[in-house]
Parts: sequence; C-alpha cells; structure tokens
Amino acid sequence: MKRGFSSGPLPVPCPLCAEPTQPRGETVHGPDPRVAGVPIELGSHAAAMRACPSCGLLFKRPFVPDETLLACYAASPGDNWEHDPDPIKRRFDQIAALIEKHAPGRRVLDIGCSNGALLKHLGSNWERSGLEPSAEAARVATERGISMLGATLGDLPADVRFDAILAIDVLEHLTDPDAFFRGVCTHLAPGGVFVALTGDHDAWGWRLQGNAYWYAALPEHQVFYCRRTIEHLARRNAMQLIAYRRTSHARHKPTRVVRDALRGLIHGLMRRMGLARRTPAPGWLPARDHMLFVLRGPGSA
Ligand SMILES: [Zn+2]
Repeated sequence: MKRGFSSGPLPVPCPLCAEPTQPRGETVHGPDPRVAGVPIELGSHAAAMRACPSCGLLFKRPFVPDETLLACYAASPGDNWEHDPDPIKRRFDQIAALIEKHAPGRRVLDIGCSNGALLKHLGSNWERSGLEPSAEAARVATERGISMLGATLGDLPADVRFDAILAIDVLEHLTDPDAFFRGVCTHLAPGGVFVALTGDHDAWGWRLQGNAYWYAALPEHQVFYCRRTIEHLARRNAMQLIAYRRTSHARHKPTRVVRDALRGLIHGLMRRMGLARRTPAPGWLPARDHMLFVLRGPGSA
C-alpha cells in the first residue's frame, strides 16, 4: 500500500466550492412526499445530509434530479399556491422597498414568480417579467400582465438585462447554486441588484431539530445556506452584499409564534432524547430561519 493511501470512503466534494464535506446524518422526509402538491418517488435520492465546513453549504445527497423536480412543478395544480397571498404577511412590502431603494432602473425579473402575485404587488410602473415552470401558475401571471419569458434562467434570451432580479423561495431548490448565480450576473444590467429570500440553517430551531426541521424535511429543498455561504457566492461572482437581514418566511400572529415555538421546542427535545427521529418536525413558519438579502451585480462597485 502506498504511503498516505487511505482505504476509507472517497471524500464527497461540496457542490459549491468543491472542498471535502462531512456527513450530517440521514434526511427526514414524510411518508407521502410531495413536491408542489405532486407525489414524488424519492427512491435513494436525497437520502443523506452533508455539510461543507468551508463555505457553509448544507446539502442532500444524492440530489433529486432537476428534471424530476421540474416535472413536478410543471404538473402542479393551480390551487397549490395562494391566488392572492396577503402581501403584508408575505413581506411583499419589505421586498418592494428593497427593490425601490437599490435598483438602478425599472426592469424587474422574478425567477420562480408563481402566479405573479409579488410582481402584481409591485405595480405597473415596473417593467415586469417572470420565469415559472408551473404552466398553470404562469398562465395566471400572464393574465396579470406579467411578461413570461420561460420556465428557468436558461430560457432567457442571451441579451436581455434587468435592473433587479428576484429569487424568493428559489435558492433552496437548486442543485448548482454557482451556475445559477453566474446566470443571474449575466442578466443584470450595470448596477443591477439580486434580491433573494431563502432559509438559513444557522437558525437555532433548525440546529435544535436537525434534519427533521420543517424546512429541511421538504423533499424539493436540496441545498441550504447560511450567511457565510451567501458571502462565498458573492465573492465567487464578484458581487457585493449591500443589504442583509435575518427574518421569518412570513409574518404571523403572536399566538401562532408562541404555539409553533412551544411545539418546535418539544419536538426538538424529543429528538435530542432519541425519540421521533424519523418524523419530520411540525411546521415552524414564524421562526426567524430565513435570510432576505441584496447583492449588487459585478462590475458596479
Ligand atoms: Zn463548500
């Protein structure tokens, strides 16, 4: 045997930074996994969780193939999304304020825009475009006056540029975040901004409940970030982090905040005692387990 040769398993490289990663146990999915309301056969996909000590990315392995997930989104029934979500509950006001403050012009693209509810909220003084794989949601967005340009970033014409590109509840679905960020940069106008909302696995409830955490237990969520990962992605793509806040996915009533926190704490403690390890934790939507941030595109410092 050669000196230094290890007979252990091959290191698993990080899908973002290619550094070696560490095991973080088995993933936890419900008994009847669904993606956007469509049943999905996971088989051996998304069986294990791994963590990258270098860039902070947490990811499921092996990934569910993009084609499988896109087929689920495309077949998703129209009632899977709220037709008119409450704009205050969904923080549309905060997102709109960030765009108003930082975008150098009025051209906005929402990636994964669903039925166009956020773009509709922005108002017609914006030149509004969307990308959405669900045919039914895209049809509603078109009816709302949104210019639908395709399903994913790859469908955009090469020369189209935007002053603001949004990815709300999108980044956690990606299997190649770096390619996605490169694509975003390609389509940002000079001085343009990228505005995103995604989960933050540094949230304390997540650390308490581990892989059973509600956000990690959704089968379509494949990669998870923390602030360090976003900073890594920004550096890699010559972008600049100009706004960042830890927040919850949506605003909820105080009674719901207390109820979910108690329920989440009990589940986390049970899990720590070795109970309910294979059961996804109950939803904890008011938790401050998301990041809302703005990155300025490359070449515009
Ligand atoms: Zn990494």
